Amino acid sequence: MKKVGILGGTFNPVHNGHLFVAEKVTEYYHLDKLILIPNGNPPHKQTVSVSAEDRLAMLELAAANREDFFVDTYEVNGQEYSYTYNTLGYLKKKYPDDKLYFIAGADNIDEIAGWRRPKDIFLLADVIFFARPHYPINWTEIEKLKKDFHASIEVFSVDEVDISATDIRKRIEIGKPITGLVPPQVEQYIKEHRLYQPEYMLYMKQLKEFLCPERFRHTIGVAKMAEKLAVHYQIDKEKAYLAGLLHDCAKNLPEDELRNLTKRSSFPIYDGELDNPQLLHSIAGSVIAKEVFEIEDKEILSAIRYHTIGRVDMTLLEKIIYLADLIEENRTFALVERMRTLAFINLDQALLLSIENNINYLKKNGLNVLKESYHIKESLLNKGVHL
Ligand code: FE
Ligand code: FE
Repeated sequence: MKKVGILGGTFNPVHNGHLFVAEKVTEYYHLDKLILIPNGNPPHKQTVSVSAEDRLAMLELAAANREDFFVDTYEVNGQEYSYTYNTLGYLKKKYPDDKLYFIAGADNIDEIAGWRRPKDIFLLADVIFFARPHYPINWTEIEKLKKDFHASIEVFSVDEVDISATDIRKRIEIGKPITGLVPPQVEQYIKEHRLYQPEYMLYMKQLKEFLCPERFRHTIGVAKMAEKLAVHYQIDKEKAYLAGLLHDCAKNLPEDELRNLTKRSSFPIYDGELDNPQLLHSIAGSVIAKEVFEIEDKEILSAIRYHTIGRVDMTLLEKIIYLADLIEENRTFALVERMRTLAFINLDQALLLSIENNINYLKKNGLNVLKESYHIKESLLNKGVHL
């Protein structure tokens, strides 16, 4: 029989305080496993500002540091709010031969008897309440719980770790560092996904309504790569991130809608461009970015507009978005590694490589090559760009 600890929470975000408690309890009670369970979006916490997927992803990064820590998605994937007795019942089925330890903060001592089906909770698991040293423990209530529910209860004292998720969110909101408050991988994830940043919250929310999960992942990849290239070539990294984030915002719209949107575009449209449905989303995307995402910045709008085929004399931001789209971390085509390396050495060479590659591909497959593609190639060659 193994000992399995269970620690639930919103984990918005998971931080070193959570992990400290998890480690101490695991050590002290010789637990074989610790299961971290992120809540779904509970009814009494409607203010959860970050998606369950993001909370889950961060928790998984944090748990990956320890072999005995696992993340369970039961509550996150559930359609409805899961009460503790539900979750424990599920875990008992999953680990029928093991002994379960439900770990909760000592602030729950006074409340647990009022939770849904407390008798089941105490039947399914031993409960470990953790508290800071000198926290006033209600021992009378504990005795009562033991008597009323035949509960097996432990009280565990952990040193104070003065970290709260609320504080972390506030720090990010006002641009303060969170180094040391969360594991480094979580810190990086928060940065890369711009979590808890008020200026990005609405963009992310709207974007998730426009894009399927796979496209959203690609989009984050492009935004991250665009930011890296922007830092490398010393242009505004937030602008590049935002352009990357929005470059495919129209990608999942139906073709008739895309066609309608292209009519409202103020950018020129190339000969033959509207014949290829694959190209419509860049024109339509700049319209959506302007009308829905309220982007006024012309450079961002034009980077979105030209991300599929490029144009002669592209701006630095346009080149960056065009290439970031191709070389972001999820991309796997044959030339990708070469293009990735080249993009950080010489943007124009990377661009030429891509344009030539495109032309060759289209020709080989008997598809139409836009005149503009030849113009871009010529113009690069005329500037002395060579591979
Ligand atoms: Fe695209
Ligand atoms: Fe894309």
